[in-house]
Amino acid sequence: MESGATREVVILGSGPAGLTAAIYAARGELKPVVLEGEPSSSSDQPGGQLMLTTEVENFPGFTHGVLGPELMVSMRAQAERFGAEIHTERASRVDLTSDPVGIWIGDPKAPDPTLRARALIIATGARSLMLGLENESRLLGYGVSTCATCDGFFFREKRIVVVGGGDSALEEALFLTKFGDSVTVVHRRKELRASKIMQDRAFKNEKITFRWDSVVTDILGNERVSGVRVREANTGEESEIGTDGVFVAIGHAPSTELFAGQLEIDEAGYLVTHDGTETNVPGVFACGDVQDHVYRQAVTAAGSGCMAAIDAERYLASLASS
Ligand code: NAP
Repeated sequence: MESGATREVVILGSGPAGLTAAIYAARGELKPVVLEGEPSSSSDQPGGQLMLTTEVENFPGFTHGVLGPELMVSMRAQAERFGAEIHTERASRVDLTSDPVGIWIGDPKAPDPTLRARALIIATGARSLMLGLENESRLLGYGVSTCATCDGFFFREKRIVVVGGGDSALEEALFLTKFGDSVTVVHRRKELRASKIMQDRAFKNEKITFRWDSVVTDILGNERVSGVRVREANTGEESEIGTDGVFVAIGHAPSTELFAGQLEIDEAGYLVTHDGTETNVPGVFACGDVQDHVYRQAVTAAGSGCMAAIDAERYLASLASS
């Protein structure tokens, strides 16, 4: 990449939101540059969260489903076909006070940005918080999941464990009762953090039971999940719960670190958008999970990526005519 160059559109992130924005911006002849991130177990995931799933059955257009990684490879190739320039690199710093905005790759203390953008589309996504157990990452997609809407269907008439005590955990648990024979919510305390209405619904549901004061210390199974080991927080006593699936629902963390102090961020840490995908800085747009803690679906992320590209295109056209 030519250092110091000013580009019309730079896109940060390469999940469904970033790559859909890239497809639209490229077809609009804006020659977008996509910084897709660098492979890392703890931060970036080029291709986004779908790279961590197996079968995706609810993305429209695939009668028999599609593998998450396959879908993302396809979106990436589609963006490249129209001229998007995709770099396996991550932004280390942004300066949104300058116009065009500055983006650094590598040393964030370098005096000048690596590239500048007249319009910036932020699609850095969110990560599901994980328990941090070795077997949890090994069995992700093989019984361990972070998304009931995506994977619940695979647990018909099965035993399911949900970990967490917030609204997400109860929402996942309630949704999973449509499929599973039983849903055990394992929570590390005796009080739920979830809203009263969600608690009432969960307590009323006959398929849901609670395992209180319990910390999941291991996930069991060779090829697929067969159980979890839990430690009772007060007595330290260890026991096993047999299960076919483990849904980890202990919260999400949007990837907004780069924008702290520059963009408006809500109480839960998500970027605030208005009028489509606009942020509080003109020419800076946000789409996908980094600004959505409600829907969090691949298809909604892709939809908002399309919106961001159209918003960016209109913004650039307004600059040209002023
Ligand atoms: P949350 O409210 O932060 O709850 C996270 C839960 O996971 C807490 O019960 C927490 O336990 C537990 N937890 C965190 N780290 C853990 C760990 N390492 N091991 C075991 N348990 C752990 O997150 P959320 O449920 O995703 O909700 C986030 C926000 O979105 C909230 O404002 C929520 O109201 C909202 N939301 C709303 C809806 C809805 O209205 N339908 C649905 C989903 C989310 P402790 O309680 O002990 O801290």
